[in-house]
Amino acid sequence: CGIVAYIGPKDATAFLLEGLQRLEYRGYDSAGVAVAKGGALKVCKVKGRVADLAAAVPARFKGSVGIGHTRWATHGVPSDANAHPHVDNAGRIAVVHNGIIENADELRARLQAEGAHFTSETDTETLSHLIAAHTAEGTDLEDAVRAALAHVVGTYGIAVLDAEQPDRVVVARNGSPIVLGIGEKEMFVGSDVAALVRYTRQVVHLEDGELAVVRADGFRTFTEDARTVTRQPSTVDWEV
Ligand code: GLU
Repeated sequence: CGIVAYIGPKDATAFLLEGLQRLEYRGYDSAGVAVAKGGALKVCKVKGRVADLAAAVPARFKGSVGIGHTRWATHGVPSDANAHPHVDNAGRIAVVHNGIIENADELRARLQAEGAHFTSETDTETLSHLIAAHTAEGTDLEDAVRAALAHVVGTYGIAVLDAEQPDRVVVARNGSPIVLGIGEKEMFVGSDVAALVRYTRQVVHLEDGELAVVRADGFRTFTEDARTVTRQPSTVDWEV
């Protein structure tokens, strides 16, 4: 339902929680965040309100790159386990997702046959295992996400974090909005500009079929067949 991400010099969690609060008006049943630091992921997710998530996040939940989500369940009941982010079995790749993966059952069966162990009932978890299969071979995160999405039928807005490539967040859009917010040596992501406008007015809306690799000092947008596309930022001028 709602997506946020941050990369930059600051502590990611403060923006992630506030951004999620600004997306609450869309409705949701659970919320979660993941940050990367020192080659490891920290993940906290709960059924309930963003305020419950904020209370559950440990004080030592530090990292300058992270992703967050408010979930409106489509596949699997509202629960802590089904809340996003979803992580692969190595604890390396974290994914938040808006939308519906239509061939999730088929992907899940194939991934399980290859040894993946699922910890949720969601369609989204197939993405973490699919992406991890590529990053495990040393592939750049943006190429791993592109390769994974080639197997997916359905709608998505996603943000992906790799503990071993903490210099970037990769996002993709197909039928579910993703907006990049450009800051001073920091970048924000939201599924809706409402999450970003307190931090920046310079935004880039991804088109369907596009991905972006987002770093603290900028971003690159490209298509699902790896063609670079140039997107000019626009200025949001509404009152907060
Ligand atoms: N299909 C996903 C799930 O059920 C994402 C739902 C959403 O858009 O929040 O977990």
